[in-house]
Amino acid sequence: MYAKSNPSDARANNRRLLFQLLFPGRQLSRADLCKETGLSRATATDVTGEMIDDGLLRELGSGPRDGRGKPGILLAIDTNALRLVCVDLSRPYVMTGAVMDLRARIVERRERVLDDGDRVDLDDVLSLVGQMVQLAGPGLAGIGVAVPGVISGSGTVISSAHLGWSDVELRDLLEEEFSLPSCVNNDANATLLADRFLGHGSSSCLLVQIARGVGASVLLNDEFVAGDDHAAGEIGHVVIDSDGPICACGKRGCLETYVSAVALRDRIRKDPHHRTETLTEAGTRLGNALAMPTSLLNLRDIVVYGPPDVAGETLLDACRETVNALSRNDYQSGGIRVRRCELGDDAALRGQAISVLHEIVGRR
Ligand SMILES: [Zn+2]
Repeated sequence: MYAKSNPSDARANNRRLLFQLLFPGRQLSRADLCKETGLSRATATDVTGEMIDDGLLRELGSGPRDGRGKPGILLAIDTNALRLVCVDLSRPYVMTGAVMDLRARIVERRERVLDDGDRVDLDDVLSLVGQMVQLAGPGLAGIGVAVPGVISGSGTVISSAHLGWSDVELRDLLEEEFSLPSCVNNDANATLLADRFLGHGSSSCLLVQIARGVGASVLLNDEFVAGDDHAAGEIGHVVIDSDGPICACGKRGCLETYVSAVALRDRIRKDPHHRTETLTEAGTRLGNALAMPTSLLNLRDIVVYGPPDVAGETLLDACRETVNALSRNDYQSGGIRVRRCELGDDAALRGQAISVLHEIVGRR
């Protein structure tokens, strides 16, 4: 979705740039698009014409007259011609599949409960994608799957402790099976994309996902930080207290043992009268852990995604207070923002759709 100038592929970038300006629901004339992008009128007319033919954009009626000349025809994203299929594997005990339109809105949704608690077989994933492909019918343009794990640039699941997978070439398998452009992304990256383009996100942002474990994703000037092993954001098993509780990984005091939804719910269940203290401590520990990367990268925007019973105001307030207290902020107006991602259970699905859009809009 995010457009960067790349001289080797100017046409693909122009298509992405124009699509992004109209995403999700803006209506602009060709003259508006030229004004906002600096593209020439000839280029904008050529590229938008091509995208209308491809079913990506459509013409609406005329816009308001601007005083001179005739009013321009407004363009918008076409929500009728094409569909996407996305599957989210990030949630415990359930796989979610959706047919979506080009505004990343869900048209049809199906859930499959995992009989074996957690275990997800590759065949079950391909079968759910197949079911959604049938539901989508003609006009299906691409497929996306959001996976909790370390994902290579070519869509291979290098490892996913949650799914019990390693070296699964998922994108290639999807493209082989369904003959459509396919994208496989880390679930926290997908959620951050949704926050960026459908929520309140900025172009540089750190997302913390509180779920079974704790994961993170970092966007810098609209580029994801991937890391040498594609594992940037894997912060859950960083030790924050070497005298802390034993973690499932064998170490003591990993971030996950204090901040994951599973650990917090467990603690609250055992000591329900100290719920506020437990959540405040978790927020403070998270703030402590995030102060260094936040200052290192000069980020101002931290978004926390997680179930509201744990990732609520109590935890966020403590995290915000700690991050700001520990960071040098005399050059920052307003300090570091720490906020909740408000996109609900479908954030990863919708972000995954944005990733597929980036792929298909750039192709012809
Ligand atoms: Zn650990």
